[in-house]
Amino acid sequence: MLDICQSIKNKISSDSEVFYWPDPSYIDDIKHYATTSTTLPICSVEPATSADVATIMKIIRETQVPFAVKGGGHTLNPGFSSTTGIHIAMRRFDKVIYHANNQTVDVDSGLIWDDVYRALDPYNVSVVGGRVSGVGVAGFTLGGGYSWKSNQFGLAIDNVLGYELVSPNGTIVYVTNDSYSDIFFGLKGGFNNFGIVTNFKLRALPQTLVYGGLLIYVDIHKFDNILTALVKFQNNNKDPKAQLLPSFFRQAGLISFTLTVFYDAPTAPTGTFDEFMNISHFGVLKTRSFLSFIKAVPVFITDGMR
Ligand SMILES: Cc1cc2nc3c(=O)[nH]c(=O)nc-3n(C[C@H](O)[C@H](O)[C@H](O)COP(=O)(O)OP(=O)(O)OC[C@H]3O[C@@H](n4cnc5c(N)ncnc54)[C@H](O)[C@@H]3O)c2cc1C
Repeated sequence: MLDICQSIKNKISSDSEVFYWPDPSYIDDIKHYATTSTTLPICSVEPATSADVATIMKIIRETQVPFAVKGGGHTLNPGFSSTTGIHIAMRRFDKVIYHANNQTVDVDSGLIWDDVYRALDPYNVSVVGGRVSGVGVAGFTLGGGYSWKSNQFGLAIDNVLGYELVSPNGTIVYVTNDSYSDIFFGLKGGFNNFGIVTNFKLRALPQTLVYGGLLIYVDIHKFDNILTALVKFQNNNKDPKAQLLPSFFRQAGLISFTLTVFYDAPTAPTGTFDEFMNISHFGVLKTRSFLSFIKAVPVFITDGMR
């Protein structure tokens, strides 16, 4: 298979590159949030243009070599974005372009959501994207995508207007509901089954400062009270701007309960989260940027632990 890597290297442009173990770029390219999702490929390739992705796809098709495509590397399924063959890392697809005239955003498929929110912050707009730091745009959007804004605006797939797609036969197509309605439908949950997406056109949404943060509960005798409050919130909350993300953690023998609290406005209506604030906890809820809120969720604790 080494000769296939060499063939790719010879045919792609100088903007793109092929790496072999133990090059640091190779190691970075194959890294996943879940260690069990990482496999050692023969080589990793970082295409920088859609034309180079097309060239790679043609070689893969001719040689029938196993391959994988990775975005943010947050799949928990071994083999979804890892392979023993040719590993395609999309990290060089890293542009975000906001179009104020029609309220859309072109987002490259190698980005993680942190990058997207950071780029859009100066314009006071956002998109229906990931809830925590590190999750990739591509896998999240191609798999459905449940966001902090989904109760208001739907899933990520409901907010995609177009895809630039490199098909398995190496042709580059622009997929919309008008141009290729069947593929457009298929990509809603289709992951990598229809080719490699290089760019998404997303609906832009107005974004104010938000309210929220992380509450940490360590008194196990209060866990029942928290769970009762959660069930009550789940049954009674009718405000789509209010959301909670509860998690139990066990680290170094200690069990804790964390509650990420979100309200999609600078302040929450009085009483919205009182039940949780009234149980003894660490942490504060405050007005902050959307990106600062995303960064507050402590996913780094379990990065590389599975
Ligand atoms: C800590 C954590 C928090 C999460 N939070 C949420 C959440 O709040 N809401 C939610 O809906 N999901 C959430 N997820 C699930 C996450 O959205 C999926 O695992 C998603 O597939 C990750 O996308 P990725 O690009 O990071 O992953 P990758 O592992 O890179 O890719 C996932 C899949 O997408 C394919 N793919 C990647 N790039 C492309 C491309 N350019 N073209 C075609 N196919 C491609 C891969 O081949 C693979 O099959 C979370 C996961 C983790 C680990």
